[in-house]
Amino acid sequence: MELYSGYINKLIEELAALPGIGNKSAQRLAFHLINMPQDKVNRLANTMIEAKANVRYCKECYTLTDRDICPVCANKNRNHKLIMVVENTRDLAAYEKTGRYEGVYHVLHGAISPMLGIGPGDIKLKELIERLKGDVEEVIIATNSSLEGETTAMYISKMIKPMGIKVTRIASGVPVGGDLEYIDEVTLLRALEGRVEL
Ligand code: ZN
Repeated sequence: MELYSGYINKLIEELAALPGIGNKSAQRLAFHLINMPQDKVNRLANTMIEAKANVRYCKECYTLTDRDICPVCANKNRNHKLIMVVENTRDLAAYEKTGRYEGVYHVLHGAISPMLGIGPGDIKLKELIERLKGDVEEVIIATNSSLEGETTAMYISKMIKPMGIKVTRIASGVPVGGDLEYIDEVTLLRALEGRVEL
């Protein structure tokens, strides 16, 4: 016998498939949603549909944005010859919050992970190389200090060096395995200022 109605089971199943949501949390959320007023549920569902339909990659840096070119890339006062490579849009947001970085970004949307079967072709690396054909002075690699982040950093550095562009890596003030987005702004700035040439 099924414990819940088919609709509730389906809702729990969909929620449990989201990252970081276990079966217990999924059940709690499902019952919370069912008990919410209809208009609030509609608003939540519409917000998801609209976000999915309208958010796209910036044509320059591939961060997630509502426009063709994101506000950072569109800003003429930023240094477009300085490109910081990050794993995802959350990392970009972490550096933007410091308010002290004047260059632009390149968002990879992942990191190379042989264990998970994620290769160089699965992240936005081709797009990075394409950008480097323009006028670029330095590429700062700010991938996480996890195994995947380091593997990706090494791969990028090998790829870029023959192009004669300066390649740097943020300092290791960032704890090993630490996700950039959880690190405080002072540490982020220290890591940026203490970056070393590869
Ligand atoms: Zn952009």
